[in-house]
Amino acid sequence: MIEPEAPILILTGAGISAESGLATFRGGGGLWEGHRVEDVATPEAFARNPALVQRFYNLRRAQLRDPAIRPNAAHRALAKLEATWPGPVTLVTQNIDDLHERAGHRDVVHMHGALNQAACTACDAETSWLGDLDESSRCPACAAVGALRPAVVWFGEIPQHLDRIARELAACELFVAIGTSGVVYPAAGFVAEVRAHGLAHTLEINLEPSSVHSVFHEGRQGAASTLVPAWVDELLARVG
Ligand code: NAD
Ligand code: ZN
Repeated sequence: MIEPEAPILILTGAGISAESGLATFRGGGGLWEGHRVEDVATPEAFARNPALVQRFYNLRRAQLRDPAIRPNAAHRALAKLEATWPGPVTLVTQNIDDLHERAGHRDVVHMHGALNQAACTACDAETSWLGDLDESSRCPACAAVGALRPAVVWFGEIPQHLDRIARELAACELFVAIGTSGVVYPAAGFVAEVRAHGLAHTLEINLEPSSVHSVFHEGRQGAASTLVPAWVDELLARVG
């Protein structure tokens, strides 16, 4: 039984944005928008063919500007939970899109970075970046030309905010993973860490059982836009 003051930790993946029209990335051998992950989402790919990698992320960034790409009921329900739950709610997302923010979520921990930011490989500055990036892009902080890359975490790079996440994994009393396949580490290992602390109930909400579904206490299978609002309503019914 979850008390209304209990700290809640939510982990989201590409599946929560699928019904908003953003393609997921399907598991180890899968493709992301028709590309092998090794060709577009690794530091080696960027070193080998920066133009291809920039083009890939330029297209992903352009999708965010498409008026048809909007937060769905699952993003909105989580924002409502953050605003209403009496205890702390932490949202960690593997997504690089900004749909949680656009749904009104205030504190979003982007462990894999953000599409709408550019990072400078010359001076390390991060800048808000909504348009395309290419070899002629100039860093607003140090004026270097051609040194900007998408501020996203590629496979083989270290995710962001791991210290804060480790604290939340230890402290939460309810851990919920939504729309994530459980194949990308370290995020896939979060549920096992939570279970090792022994404090929290763990729930997976996903279209199908993920690779780590057996580690969770409870699994609900179906579309995030239906199951997440229903789960949030259940929780909020406990708040008097
Ligand atoms: P994934 O694509 O590996 O897995 C998505 C999971 O969501 C699958 O298990 C699938 O069954 C489930 N799913 C699909 N549609 C769903 C729905 N409507 N409701 C509920 N579940 C649904 O995603 P991942 O585990 O997040 O790993 C992908 C990696 O690629 C991440 O590191 C992420 O940074 C990146 N990525 C990000 C985006 C994005 O920002 N929107 C999109 C694709 C990939
Ligand atoms: Zn710079």
